[in-house]
Amino acid sequence: MTTHYDMIAIGAGSGGLSAVERAAEYGKKCCVIEVKKVGGTCVNAGCVPKKVMWFAANTATQIKNAKGFGFDVEQKNFSWKALTKGRDNYIDNITSWWHGYLEKLGIDYIHGFGKLIDENTVSVNGEEYTADHIVLSPGGEPAIPHIEGAQYGITSDGFFELEDLPKKVAVIGGGYIGVELAGVLNALGSEVEIFCRADKLLRGFDSMIQNALDNDYTAHGITIHHGTQIDKVTENKTIFTNKGEFSGFDQIIWAVGRNPMTQHLGLENAGVKCDQRGFIPTDKFQVTNVDNIFALGDATGREPLTPVAIAAGRRLSDRLYNGMTDRHLEYSNIATVVFSHPPIGVIGLTEDEANKKFNKVKVYKSEFTPMADALLDHKTTTALKLVCEGDNEKIVGCHIMGHGADEMLQGFAVAIKMGATKKQFDDTVAIHPSSAEELVTMR
Ligand SMILES: Cc1cc2nc3c(=O)[nH]c(=O)nc-3n(C[C@H](O)[C@H](O)[C@H](O)COP(=O)(O)OP(=O)(O)OC[C@H]3O[C@@H](n4cnc5c(N)ncnc54)[C@H](O)[C@@H]3O)c2cc1C
Repeated sequence: MTTHYDMIAIGAGSGGLSAVERAAEYGKKCCVIEVKKVGGTCVNAGCVPKKVMWFAANTATQIKNAKGFGFDVEQKNFSWKALTKGRDNYIDNITSWWHGYLEKLGIDYIHGFGKLIDENTVSVNGEEYTADHIVLSPGGEPAIPHIEGAQYGITSDGFFELEDLPKKVAVIGGGYIGVELAGVLNALGSEVEIFCRADKLLRGFDSMIQNALDNDYTAHGITIHHGTQIDKVTENKTIFTNKGEFSGFDQIIWAVGRNPMTQHLGLENAGVKCDQRGFIPTDKFQVTNVDNIFALGDATGREPLTPVAIAAGRRLSDRLYNGMTDRHLEYSNIATVVFSHPPIGVIGLTEDEANKKFNKVKVYKSEFTPMADALLDHKTTTALKLVCEGDNEKIVGCHIMGHGADEMLQGFAVAIKMGATKKQFDDTVAIHPSSAEELVTMR
């Protein structure tokens, strides 16, 4: 007999897990299907392993910087194997925890590839399961360009499988994943070159942030090839571009975007529509064009971030099973961090976007060497910008690059989400000495 559920989620990543977890808390019978590992991209090949590597990279930088504060230390050995072993153990603990937690909540976990058979039925491993509500949360996978020799490069997934620190690396792509991996590898001792199509890193970010990061990365030894189109790659990892050929790399990393994993999901069997790139559009309640089928997270093509997938999943179950009829995620003013070196935190509109949207825009900005670097040979930049709109100077954008930006932004994001004005920032007494104090003292 076919097992029937209240909710089945296809994909046990940030979105799918959050939807079934919340549904189970409301007493619903749920199942989650996963073809790889519980936790999805974030836990296994995204935020978590990336942040471990970022901490390691920061430690390497601190060892180098210690001299400036009078410490006679030198980095003797660095073991990539010890680092990656510790990282992988940490991740194994998280995935084990998830298995136990799902069991505790009474959620069935099925390992295998889930495919829609019709609007209420999913097949996996040759068995069929039915549900009132089906959540599509298959996430995405790294894109690999369709060019000759693309197979000689790895992706971010391959980066987390590297057994040794590469000596010389080409990172192809200037988006946040490329920038983050380049920063980590550079700090840990690789020679790094970034190849990006645009004339700045981090397309879509505020120009102040783009310029500051370009300058800092260049000053810290990363070579950036702007305006570069890759034509082909050969087996010895020579890269042919519109700007000539580049060689000597022992790894090439494609960081050229991510595609939704919706190709073999059986969308057509249930009549679920997707766009040309395979993303599944939904309304504000995460409903696809089929009433009882929902889509969450990266597969929807909106704000591909873990907390976004989690928030959408939880709100969906609140609405379906707890009578919160208007509960949905608002996709505006979502803060995001790039774990570059130094990190970047942004929320809201860039200066250019604000100028296009509003008649009266005022910008406050500040760039300086942070006190943390004052005694060091290798300094970084801290760059801050507030974008304000209207007579009462409502803050519609906040852009920060600098030490601590990753932790700094969260509190400011609350204020900005609540509609804070520049005057309210000015009325807040500063914390001194800090970099964050500039955000409440800029004139
Ligand atoms: C290198 C990297 C760094 C990142 N860093 C950050 C960060 O610092 N902060 C942040 O917020 N976000 C970060 N992200 C993004 C974040 O990981 C994603 O936004 C988040 O994981 C999306 O959640 P999801 O549930 O939509 O998909 P996923 O977490 O990708 O989960 C989808 C799951 O579905 C499974 N699946 C797919 N198809 C099927 C099928 N048919 N049957 C069964 N299972 C299936 C997949 O195997 C996967 O496990 C990063 C991503 C990458 C790649």
